[in-house]
Amino acid sequence: MNIREKLEEIETTTLSPKATLSSASRGRVRPENPHPLRTAFQRDRDRIIHSKSFRRLKHKTQVFLAPFGDHYRTRLTHTLEVSQIARTIAKALRLNEDLTEAIALGHDLGHTPFGHAGEETLDKLLLDGFTHYEQSLRVVEKLEYEGKGLNLTYEVREGIQKHSKGRGEILENNLEDMPKTLEGQIVRVSDVIAYVNHDIDDALRAGVIKEGDIPQHLVKDLGKWPAARIDRMVEDVVKASLDTELERIAMSEKGLTAVVELREFLYKRVYCGPQAAGEIDKAKKILSDLYDYVLRKPNPYVKHYPRGDSLERRAADFIAGMTDFYALALYEKLFFPRTWSS
Ligand code: MG
Repeated sequence: MNIREKLEEIETTTLSPKATLSSASRGRVRPENPHPLRTAFQRDRDRIIHSKSFRRLKHKTQVFLAPFGDHYRTRLTHTLEVSQIARTIAKALRLNEDLTEAIALGHDLGHTPFGHAGEETLDKLLLDGFTHYEQSLRVVEKLEYEGKGLNLTYEVREGIQKHSKGRGEILENNLEDMPKTLEGQIVRVSDVIAYVNHDIDDALRAGVIKEGDIPQHLVKDLGKWPAARIDRMVEDVVKASLDTELERIAMSEKGLTAVVELREFLYKRVYCGPQAAGEIDKAKKILSDLYDYVLRKPNPYVKHYPRGDSLERRAADFIAGMTDFYALALYEKLFFPRTWSS
């Protein structure tokens, strides 16, 4: 028995019967020989960490566009916080931590520059729409690894694809829209827990809101500090999920209402607030202009993207892959007059 087989045996004997076992994975589109040391889900996590789109997350907006302050979250630090929260829940419920981590680290790989402003812009520009969760799946299936894709397991791909419905239900009653694995459901709820807490923290740091603006009954129920609030929410998920006997990942009604209220508060005051609006318009203009330019002069910009797809989709791949800094620099190069040096 090799080390990977021993690890698979440890999963079988120590994890909950409801856990997704790596030895029971539905596998990859292109079959591969199993690794002697690592389980299938460990391998998926490692492929994501070593991918180029993962490295680009460090210069993509979470909420604040191309922030100068070093303490603001980026898409990368958001991803790491989601992974931490999700792994805590998975471990507490004796579910598969490696699968949870792989989904968490891959969930936002398809995010555009300039956060949701970028996503909205591409969604309007493309005839058949654009969402970051579909794009994350496209990144791992078709775009990464020089167009070969990362060939991840079915469970990781499904978890990435179904990690979000934007402003929609956090834990859907419609099971079709929920990830099939409990590990995927954990990432879905952890994503929201992470961002409602860190976006409030960043908005306070930026002076967009003040402590007193946060609905006071939520501060009373959940605690004054982000750490206390995250702790409360994580405990709530663990307890409510155990109460369902791990039929699904759940939150208490009170817990879920609190998270939804915080999210609505953020939409109103931060994401769509007056201070954001002007910056969002600028971001939308930059990306629309770049998109139009690429449609008019596709080369060399789209040549690395899947040839079988429409020019519009390939232009969107190029734009969605950009970091905030790259988008700004390309915009300057294409649309600003060049100064003459002596
Ligand atoms: Mg996210």
